[in-house]
Amino acid sequence: MSEQLQAIRGMNDVLPSEIGAWQHFESCTRELLASYGYEEIRVPVVERTELFKRAIGEHTDVVGKEMYTFTDRGGDSLTLRPEATAGIVRALISNGMLRGARHKLWCLGPMFRHETPQAGRYRQFWQVDVEAVGCAGPDVDAELIALGARLWQRLGITGLKLEINSLGTPDSRRAYRAHLSDYLRGHESRLDADSQRRLGTNPLRILDSKNPEMQELIRGAPELTEHLDVESRDHFQTLCAMLREVGVSFQINPRLVRGLDYYNRTVFEWITQSTGAQNAVCSGGRYDGLISQLGGDGTPAIGFAMGVERLVTLLTAAGKAPPPPRPDVFVVVSGEQSAAKALKLIEGLRTQRPRLRIELSFGGGNFKAQFRRADKSGAPLALIVGEDELARGVVAMKPLREQSGQTECPVGDLAPAVDAALALLAHPGGAPAG
Ligand code: ATP
Ligand code: MG
Repeated sequence: MSEQLQAIRGMNDVLPSEIGAWQHFESCTRELLASYGYEEIRVPVVERTELFKRAIGEHTDVVGKEMYTFTDRGGDSLTLRPEATAGIVRALISNGMLRGARHKLWCLGPMFRHETPQAGRYRQFWQVDVEAVGCAGPDVDAELIALGARLWQRLGITGLKLEINSLGTPDSRRAYRAHLSDYLRGHESRLDADSQRRLGTNPLRILDSKNPEMQELIRGAPELTEHLDVESRDHFQTLCAMLREVGVSFQINPRLVRGLDYYNRTVFEWITQSTGAQNAVCSGGRYDGLISQLGGDGTPAIGFAMGVERLVTLLTAAGKAPPPPRPDVFVVVSGEQSAAKALKLIEGLRTQRPRLRIELSFGGGNFKAQFRRADKSGAPLALIVGEDELARGVVAMKPLREQSGQTECPVGDLAPAVDAALALLAHPGGAPAG
């Protein structure tokens, strides 16, 4: 017997039973982003490895140990995108879209990181990425954060906490990095193996350590906030004031540093309080230096990415996933001669009523079996197209979830008759309001 085929570890199928929640999430997100003036962009899933090394940074976990990198048949080193910002910036540069222009963009798609799979952490996962390119002020930061808050509200996801911080400019960050390194070197024996490795390469990431034994040392570390340059401090204070003004609550987390190197000034993260280690559902920050670092002009920008699986899980747990769709009409066909005529009749009905969900009972079978299928479909109404009915130029209609009897309508009146029957079944007491 051949071995059963399995999906790759950490890469999930999204099954029809789950797709309703995904589509609901996607359509709410799409609609909200459009209402804020964001436009969709689609970029390749694969880019040159070099792009991610330059954008994300060689000493980050993502580039250091999580990328799916391979050599293609032409000998180029390519990588499955671990995040979307680098590709979007590359697209803006290579399509000549910068030159002082502003862009508000979003992108949905799968990302790839070779992490240890667990609930909420996968090797292929989906993100909605949102980027505002060309604006430097804290107003765009505030609006982007408010957009997130509004999305959670529309989706009915509660209990998310917002943490924000400022990383300052690359200069103030470098100065802070030196202070932090001094402090950590002074306590080197207390650093775990991971942190010892990071001390030389990326000491800021040590603040992000999840190891409980490291927390006391981290609490005692100098705070970045104390080393901010004046302009970054102003930027941050204005952002905080604007968030208060629009009523978005937040907490300043001076340890929030984010895992990618390209951030400066504003960084933020939405965190779920529900149990489980994978608590970040949306994270982002300002990246004023990235575009010039990748060869574009010095355009400021800010963006964030949401983890779709994590948000869909919260949405489902909150009971906000819509129920699976059911057909409006199920068509029972009796008699072998009727199949072609029934098909033609129903195609005609689809033309007249494009929004109607209609399912045909294929392959005939006896009445009882077909009605079992009709009941299982969840449709409120069955149409019966049989030789006898067709000979008389009528179609029979039967409510499926009520005891009321069968009626008939002339073939030529099928569409309005179906409308009327469905309206009656939806509002049994009388005419629908309006
Ligand atoms: P984490 O701290 O959970 O590793 P991150 O800081 O690496 O997250 P980002 O790179 O900022 O995450 O990605 C943005 C969002 O994408 C995260 O907030 C999270 O919701 C989601 N995400 C990141 N990595 C994964 C993953 N491996 N599986 C599922 N979702 C993920
Ligand atoms: Mg991560």
